Amino acid sequence: MKGLEELKLTCRTARPDGTVVEVGGVHIGGRDVVVMAGPCSVESEDQLLATARAVKQAGARILRGGAYKPRTSPYSFRGLHEEGLRLLAEARRVTGLPVVTEAMDTRHLEAVCACADMIQIGSRNMQNYTLLEEVGKLRLPVLLKRGLSATIEEFLMAAEYVASGGNEQIILCERGIRTFETATRNTLDLNAVPLLKRYTHFPVIVDPSHGTGIWWLVPHMARAAVAVGADGLLVEVHVNPQKALSDGDQSLRPEKFEQMMRDIRPFAQALGRSV
Ligand code: PEP
Ligand code: MN
Repeated sequence: MKGLEELKLTCRTARPDGTVVEVGGVHIGGRDVVVMAGPCSVESEDQLLATARAVKQAGARILRGGAYKPRTSPYSFRGLHEEGLRLLAEARRVTGLPVVTEAMDTRHLEAVCACADMIQIGSRNMQNYTLLEEVGKLRLPVLLKRGLSATIEEFLMAAEYVASGGNEQIILCERGIRTFETATRNTLDLNAVPLLKRYTHFPVIVDPSHGTGIWWLVPHMARAAVAVGADGLLVEVHVNPQKALSDGDQSLRPEKFEQMMRDIRPFAQALGRSV
């Protein structure tokens, strides 16, 4: 791969033993495979708390949920914004689960930092260099998602932007890339996991929900992700996917999520890891 010499802080040789990122007391990049789960969007107190309790019960360690949603159409539900952040803080208080949520813009950073244990930079913003620069100044862990059409090199350069600003608490997330295939929402590039782990010391997780767009494919690709060495998973779960305001087609019901958690265990154990 070209450009590797530009990866001053991100390259594996900068920290050959790998980086473990701590998110609200949960360690990612160590022996455990850490599952982060929750709804695509925070929709209401009932929806969030019911989902948060269910994913915790099933073994998830971190709660996900979007308050600021990047939607293709401006007329789709775009999140509850500050009210969504307030509900996430409430869900953390009730369940004890640390929270990850997306900031789409530098204007959201202050509010997101006040409530979240980790800040998500979404696919569409992977090359928003102003946002990456600002996130680089924070002392909060960053979940950096691969851009929809980003190469591995571009992905690593985005991480280098954050690291060069002084924030080296970065988790990389493979979430599928755009290809000619239309049977799935995206093509989940599992090559990325061992490739990224070879080139960088940051933990690597996989989002099989956006990577497929189809709920029943999610557990299959979750097992595959664990088998190729992912340090964690990011999974969308909804108590009533048919009524979801975003990404219902790719959201697991709590009982399917529980089954997925059981099914990934032997794959983790085969690699000497636990879930
Ligand atoms: C999400 O996690 O809900 C999301 C919008 O993801 P991505 O940025 O990968 O599309
Ligand atoms: Mn989503």
